[in-house]
Amino acid sequence: MTSLRFKALDSVFQRKANEVSGSSKITAIFGENVFTLKVAREFLSDEAYKSLVASVKGSKKIDRTVANQIASGIRHWAESKGVTHFTHWFQPLTGTTAEKHDSFFTIKSDGSSLEEFDGGALIQQEPDASSFPSGGIRATFEARGYTAWDPSSPAFIMEIGNGKTLCIPTIFVSYTGETLDYKAPLLKSLEALNKAAVDVANYFDKNVTKVTATLGWEQEYFVIDEGLANARPDIVLSGRTVFGHAPAKGQQLEDHYFGSIPERVYSFMRDFEEEAYKLGIPLRTRHNEVAPAQFECAPIFEEVSIAVDHNTLLMDIMDRVARRHKLKVLLHEKPFAGINGSGKHNNWSMATDTGVNLLAPGKTPKTNLMFLTFFVNTIKAVFDYSDVLRASIASAGNDHRLGANEAPPAIISVFIGQYLNKVLQDIKERVSAKFDEQDEAILKLDLHRSIPELLLDNTDRNRTSPFAFTGNKFEFRAVGSTANCANPMTVLNTIMAETLKKFKDDVDALMEKGEKKEIAIMHVIREYIVASEKVLFEGDGYSEEWAKEAEKRGLPNVKTTPLALDAMITDKSKELFESNDVLTHIELEARHEIELEKYIKKVQIEARIMGELCTSHVLPAAVKYQNILIENIKGIKEIGLDESAYSNQKQILTKISEHISKVSDLVAKMIEARKICNAMDNTRTKAIAYESQVKAPFFEDIRYHVDKLELLVDDQYWQLPKYREMLFLR
Ligand code: ADP
Ligand code: MG
Repeated sequence: MTSLRFKALDSVFQRKANEVSGSSKITAIFGENVFTLKVAREFLSDEAYKSLVASVKGSKKIDRTVANQIASGIRHWAESKGVTHFTHWFQPLTGTTAEKHDSFFTIKSDGSSLEEFDGGALIQQEPDASSFPSGGIRATFEARGYTAWDPSSPAFIMEIGNGKTLCIPTIFVSYTGETLDYKAPLLKSLEALNKAAVDVANYFDKNVTKVTATLGWEQEYFVIDEGLANARPDIVLSGRTVFGHAPAKGQQLEDHYFGSIPERVYSFMRDFEEEAYKLGIPLRTRHNEVAPAQFECAPIFEEVSIAVDHNTLLMDIMDRVARRHKLKVLLHEKPFAGINGSGKHNNWSMATDTGVNLLAPGKTPKTNLMFLTFFVNTIKAVFDYSDVLRASIASAGNDHRLGANEAPPAIISVFIGQYLNKVLQDIKERVSAKFDEQDEAILKLDLHRSIPELLLDNTDRNRTSPFAFTGNKFEFRAVGSTANCANPMTVLNTIMAETLKKFKDDVDALMEKGEKKEIAIMHVIREYIVASEKVLFEGDGYSEEWAKEAEKRGLPNVKTTPLALDAMITDKSKELFESNDVLTHIELEARHEIELEKYIKKVQIEARIMGELCTSHVLPAAVKYQNILIENIKGIKEIGLDESAYSNQKQILTKISEHISKVSDLVAKMIEARKICNAMDNTRTKAIAYESQVKAPFFEDIRYHVDKLELLVDDQYWQLPKYREMLFLR
């Protein structure tokens, strides 16, 4: 039997790029599968439309009769587009999306049938929730959960093959009200941020009544041939290669970046972009990344909750569309060792309903003071809660990336560029503690001139920082490529809300003492700069020196997920999330548990795959070749040649034999270590043990010997597609 590897290699050469019809104009299809407010206007009565608009904008509740009208309007729209089924679409803590399809079709009591979708079906559903992680919440309280309509995110139609399904974006809560998804806390964090930010923005502009957070994500991913991916059980089961020797040609040439996009991948991109446009996802850029077979796409930024939906939707779409092209998308943070991993930069800012980006330097001293206020508050928030922010991006996959030399380190620092550093230093020096004498000096601080329109070039140069100011937004770069952005965004919004609340208290306290508003604001800004400047770092974030320096500064550097997650459940974190009404301490503890369980499962699966691949793929191939060498040496001896005729073979044989025994030995020991971990009851202890007793001592070591064998063993016996094949054949 030919191995899957060779079958796959054969078919790779047969493949051609799919023809993609490709609409000529994006605007012609953009949002055609979305129940936008414009569509709502057409399909809803005045009353229903107004009620929907109100609930999209604020948090005004929709009553049942109006919900019935809205449901009926949505159904008519969906049916006009050939939809027969609907589903509540939500983002459970597994990290994927979930849906349960029901048809509009029902049977009345008299036996006649009709198509129906009422307000009840729109507003609430009870999916079979028992299989979604709840971190023990449901077990403790009530074994049921339900999904509830989130009107702030528009309904959309998902096309899968010929089927079309109406998707209602929902949040997922337990029967006792605890949130069980990523979306609900995100919405709450946006509300907390809105309140706090409006209060502070009102110091500068009384017309501001709403502040929303904005997000522009940049999704990195790998694309390889589907046949080759399927011939790698590790990719199929864990999304990454646990073995594989680096190809002779790696990314050292750096010729892939912005290089021409291979034809099959190009046609795949156009195809998924078209699907994305129909769903109103405003994709704008596509390009090759540094590593071979790695790419990136990014949309125009949107309000955070919509951007989060769009990102999760897109990950789903990419996966599905890739199959049409016989390609496999790898969203894993580190699919290939020795080659850059994938991240998902989260560009984040805040915008007012008066159309101002609060992190964009202004044109007048007043708007610049507003910019400075939000800018410095962000730095302070990140400094005060860097551990919580670190926890929000912790995952088994991201552990491979954070701290590797292509990704920001696990130390959270903030890069703001020389220019703004100077501005902050000026403020620190010139605004001193003595109020009376300082009024003049402060007012003379010419903020107008000192922060002119910043050139992006001035701020965007340092790519090694995990949290960088890039001209008019902060870019959180440590987020993993598979992550649901909702998690880091929830934390960012919440720590910002908390910091702004304190800021307002501090400024108000000074004003009550009779200080002028501007003076009070400048003083608190100065205080915050002094308090948080330790988090600012301009140098090379990847360097050893920085790790040392950060330690001196007392900045946390937690490298592994099980320990990084501790920050979720500290008293500080509970206080933060509870007081801002984002997550209760019970929800935090449940989430902490779920993240630990996810970590354990991931490492466990990888360890199993390693063991299995060794025994069923690697060792048989190595032994086969070992036997051939033995036969060869025996034969040479038999015909009477002396040792020089087989000394090379003997050397190879010795090496192969050494690696074989190392692999068998290490795999056996790893299985033992796993058994010990599996017997542990406490989830945290178990996760830590999986990291320190299974992953750390064995993964790299086993891999080393397997990869050596890959180089030594005759290619025709090697069952697993090699790096050069996966990365360079398209
Ligand atoms: P890169 O980081 O690759 O150099 P850009 O800096 O041009 O790319 O932009 C990256 C992302 O930042 C884009 O998705 C863009 O939409 C987003 N972005 C721009 N302005 C904002 C903003 N005010 N809020 C959130 N995201 C933004
Ligand atoms: Mg970027």
